[in-house]
Amino acid sequence: MREFEYVRAGEVDQAVATVTADPAASYLAGGTTQIDLMKDGVLEPDRLIDITRLPLGGIHRDGDVLRVGALTTMEELAADPTVAERLPFLREALLLGASVQLRNMATIGGNLLQRTRCRYFRDPTVPACNKRRRGSGCAALRGAARMHAILGASEHCVALHASDMAVPLVALDAVVHLRGTGGERSVPLTGFYRVPGDTPDVENVLAHGELITSVDVPLLAPDARSTYLKIRDRVSYEFALTSAAVALRLDGGLIGEARVALGGVGTIPWRAPEAERVLRGAPASLEVFTAAAEAAVWDPFTVEGTAFKVELAKRTLVRALRTAAGGAR
Ligand code: SF4
Repeated sequence: MREFEYVRAGEVDQAVATVTADPAASYLAGGTTQIDLMKDGVLEPDRLIDITRLPLGGIHRDGDVLRVGALTTMEELAADPTVAERLPFLREALLLGASVQLRNMATIGGNLLQRTRCRYFRDPTVPACNKRRRGSGCAALRGAARMHAILGASEHCVALHASDMAVPLVALDAVVHLRGTGGERSVPLTGFYRVPGDTPDVENVLAHGELITSVDVPLLAPDARSTYLKIRDRVSYEFALTSAAVALRLDGGLIGEARVALGGVGTIPWRAPEAERVLRGAPASLEVFTAAAEAAVWDPFTVEGTAFKVELAKRTLVRALRTAAGGAR
């Protein structure tokens, strides 16, 4: 690993000012992605600003919203009683998202910013990677691409956003709070990420030095039913081939409210508003769930290794909807 300067930040504004002023500086929190990428030579910051001692942790409920500090760990959030009671699919996604060791290190802010698992991105000896170097090409288009995206992808990049936690968060319309040298701003998580287009190196709306300080998570209604279904090659320590986060409110046999997002298939955590429109006001039936899945996985971009995901993603969503609705119908 290349040598770097280590600085422990004493306060939030100082940390933001330091990183903003230095293009070669970056933040260090749980480090579960960043240190790996530095060891691999993918990231080579000159300075790391350690923010782990800043007062950006904690979980606070304000009415029907949970404010989660950016330095809250995945394990702390999964263990929160309000999450267990009112956001069960978020808890499932957290527990399925990483081993307990990683959950105790990884932070909520860091999880949202985790980098892709694309093997070509993580191997600097591979020259063609538009995400590492704009205009260099994409090795995954003709290489091994089983763990890549089919939604939001382009001929410039098919890299997957691998977070489990972010999938129910986009379904919930979570809001990210940011601090920059110009002050604070808030961004809906559904507008936080950028699909690759022809600039896959631009992954989100953050300016250099801007820091995630907290995330607001709206609670589900007490009578909502939710589930997070993750399909993967092995049952632990593995990323999703496909996943679905679903929350439904049923009114008799009809669906009153529906929230749907997909994981394992998108270049960003993939909200599926077309599926929600199919579901709202419709009977909770297999026919309707199948129509919702067709709407959710619309216009996929596949390469040879990812074509199987089109059908798998639809089946994953149908199964998640049947589970949330209370079983086979
Ligand atoms: Fe790079 Fe994206 Fe292609 Fe992977 S899929 S090699 S990250 S450009």
